[in-house]
Amino acid sequence: MAATRKKQLECDVLFEHQDLLALTLAHPQPRKQPQSRTLKDGTRLTLIDSGILAIEPLRPGDSDIVLSCGVHGNETAPIELVNDLVNAIISGELVCRQRLLVQLGNTEAMVKGTRGVQENMNRLFSGAHARGESNPEKARAALLEQTVRDFYNQSGRKRFHYDLHTAIRDSQREKFAVYPYRPGRAWSIEQIRFLAGCGVETILLSHSPTTTYSYYSSNEFGADAFTVELGKVYPFGQNEMSRFEACRKQLSRLIAAQPLEYPPLAQSVVFDVCQVVNKHHEGFRFSFDDAQANFSEYPPGTLLAQDGDTEVRVGAVAESIVFPNAKVALGQRALLTVVPTAIDDRFE
Ligand SMILES: [Zn+2]
Repeated sequence: MAATRKKQLECDVLFEHQDLLALTLAHPQPRKQPQSRTLKDGTRLTLIDSGILAIEPLRPGDSDIVLSCGVHGNETAPIELVNDLVNAIISGELVCRQRLLVQLGNTEAMVKGTRGVQENMNRLFSGAHARGESNPEKARAALLEQTVRDFYNQSGRKRFHYDLHTAIRDSQREKFAVYPYRPGRAWSIEQIRFLAGCGVETILLSHSPTTTYSYYSSNEFGADAFTVELGKVYPFGQNEMSRFEACRKQLSRLIAAQPLEYPPLAQSVVFDVCQVVNKHHEGFRFSFDDAQANFSEYPPGTLLAQDGDTEVRVGAVAESIVFPNAKVALGQRALLTVVPTAIDDRFE
């Protein structure tokens, strides 16, 4: 009886005090069973598990939208942004007219204020969580995947997944998105303009499979999916939320099935991912300063990194660095390089 009462209280924190984030930080561990409530307008909210909430209007529009954040637990701005959207829906300020799945990713890392606990969760998707010894992060990645799979349960509907992040380092381009490899499918001009409407005007086209979350939804379910970098990491409460206003408004329009903001295509800058540099030796080091900003550009032939006996150099044209991190585990990606590209017949 007492346990039932306690569970009811936890649920009420969300539905009456209207805060998914507070509830998740107080109870980051797996929940025993889903709990549902219905809003006055008939919208059904189902707390599927800790930090995982499905919002289903009585008569949804044509889109199934996944918004994930906190896959890296210390990337707080997107978590606060998504939580604000959920609060607005619960309070009735924002009317949800599409099926929506919200996920606060790495709950344990969020509580600790760290990027991960044992590993980088954004390398655990497309089944990578099943390799090697199990741990709470792998279990969580499997759960996130499963809830996305359950959510995309009807064919013929539009599928979107925006996996929201902030970067560890400064960036010459504050906001950017990685567009996962999608063999056989053209890149979407509409999506590039949609992201520009979120304030994300730089797009990186990926050309190889990976174990990131956005690639999972793109590859397995044909979703328009992106890893979206919205700025720099700060602790909870220290984000200047005005910097995310364009994104919040555009996502609100998407959820509410209202006309979207589509800036002219010329506003966006697109890069091809050129080199994916994985670390193979413990002594891996960059030849540039550790604090170098994302999108710093280097001329042809420049030595970028030394990995054992292998030298990583810029090729025949100038390349810019993105996500350099010499501290990754062996076998993981230590650097991407990108080169500007045109919006050509690969797009439609
Ligand atoms: Zn991240």
